[in-house]
Amino acid sequence: MLELKSFLAGRWVAGGGTGQTLLNPATEEPLARASSEGLDLRAALEYARAKGGPALRAMTFAERGALLKAMADAMQAERDRLLELGIANGGNTRSDAKFDIDGAIATLLHYVEISSQLGNRKFLVDSEGIQLGRSARFHGQHVCVPRHGVAVHINAFNFPAWGFAEKAAVALLAGMPVLSKPATSSAMLAHRVMEIIVEKKILPEGALSLLVGSPGSLVSLLGPQDVLAFTGSGDTAARIRASKNIIEYSVRVNVEADSLNAAVLGPDVEPRSDMYELFLKDVVRDMTQKAGQKCTAIRRVLVPKDNLSSVREDLIELLTAVKVGNPVDEEVRMGPLATASQLDDALQGLARLDGRLVFGENKRIPGKGFFLFPVLVDSPGDAVHEHEVFGPVASLLPYAGDAAALVARGNGGLVSSIYSDDQGFIEETALAIAPHHGRIFLGHPKIELSPGPGTVLPQLVHGGPGRAGGGEELGGARGLSFYLQRVALEGSRPVIQKLLG
Ligand code: NAP
Repeated sequence: MLELKSFLAGRWVAGGGTGQTLLNPATEEPLARASSEGLDLRAALEYARAKGGPALRAMTFAERGALLKAMADAMQAERDRLLELGIANGGNTRSDAKFDIDGAIATLLHYVEISSQLGNRKFLVDSEGIQLGRSARFHGQHVCVPRHGVAVHINAFNFPAWGFAEKAAVALLAGMPVLSKPATSSAMLAHRVMEIIVEKKILPEGALSLLVGSPGSLVSLLGPQDVLAFTGSGDTAARIRASKNIIEYSVRVNVEADSLNAAVLGPDVEPRSDMYELFLKDVVRDMTQKAGQKCTAIRRVLVPKDNLSSVREDLIELLTAVKVGNPVDEEVRMGPLATASQLDDALQGLARLDGRLVFGENKRIPGKGFFLFPVLVDSPGDAVHEHEVFGPVASLLPYAGDAAALVARGNGGLVSSIYSDDQGFIEETALAIAPHHGRIFLGHPKIELSPGPGTVLPQLVHGGPGRAGGGEELGGARGLSFYLQRVALEGSRPVIQKLLG
């Protein structure tokens, strides 16, 4: 069986022990084995700090951008093979796999564009300088310089290519070396991307490392100049945040966690109108794309009480047409869940929702593979505002009056969406839910090729308060700030100006 090695301290290394077997979730066929047992993570981090950091910091933003361009080109050249891996190891349909891989390439290219705007500088000058004294000589200027540690990236299983690339693009452009740890169950894709980057010698030594297998002591080895960007469950995030060294050294941590994203159908929207059809389309896409294993997927579907039965019937009709099965069959629209434990979690979560299942069942599809039909839940209990079922599951919530208060019960989310033509309703709802979210999607049928709320665009912030982890990623050039230390220079204006070049 294929053994996935880690790339640490400039070489490929295999862990010991039995490790974890990676499966094809549609067939349960074993595909590869991964272990990180016995790997010297301390030395790997030290190597990245000592070799990768200085090499990247010696480059300008434009030069670092050229590295990202080479990474994107290398992925593009091997796109077909990467799609195959996404289908086999991730249970993705071809379209799901494209969403992950093309999203990764597009995000890298977006940061290439930003690099050309930042040009020949090596660090950022933040805003205008400030006169501090009576004369112009006493001067202040904020600058943002790359931190001298390692950017450790821990990713969730659902976007092995995009998760790897969206974090790496921003950190490398900022000038920090990266150690990336994909979720073990779906690591084949990130592993292949790393192989391509190493084979083509795209990056300076130490600029990028990959840890395949369980994280071991990784988090406990981080120090004051390091940063940790984590994507995964709120429970794991809480454990990471409680690590002694994270607290003691104030290690900068960004968390992207769970989210109970809502979609609100406005009271003005008539069944069969374009807005109504767009709403249905976005709900069904989010329930079925990647078998609902998307952090941004719509989980709570808020519908005016009077339109509940119409929306329910129409969603059932659309879901009936979704063919579930092995994604190698091109007619299949929804693949399996990623692992047996994800399927168990989804089934347990469904039971917790305690609602009426109006489509789908709370049991796996018999036979090989971790399959579940999409499940539409009507009028669930309070758990719908507390527990994320990470699968093809959404709940219908009838409302009369204050939709925003219902949305806010999710306690902080990545994205919620509003579908309405009533400007008053849009403004009132958007402003009321804004403090609880990282992004608000305003659905409109006239937006060409609307990606729906579930697509994360690199131009906009990704993250959210509260349950969503309190983090912020991407958002164009702003995303760099996580990897930079803002420092105020205070002194004589000519001296500061010379220093800034
Ligand atoms: P998870 O179990 O928390 O795992 C996430 C990552 O953390 C994996 O790489 C995992 O490694 C690693 N990990 C596990 N225990 C750790 C520890 N003690 N210290 C350091 N790292 C540790 O989450 P998941 O099941 O992969 O992902 C599903 C969850 O992620 C869902 O709740 C979903 O909402 C959330 N998610 C959020 C976003 C977002 O952007 N907000 C995106 C995607 C997913 P192993 O795989 O080796 O165990």
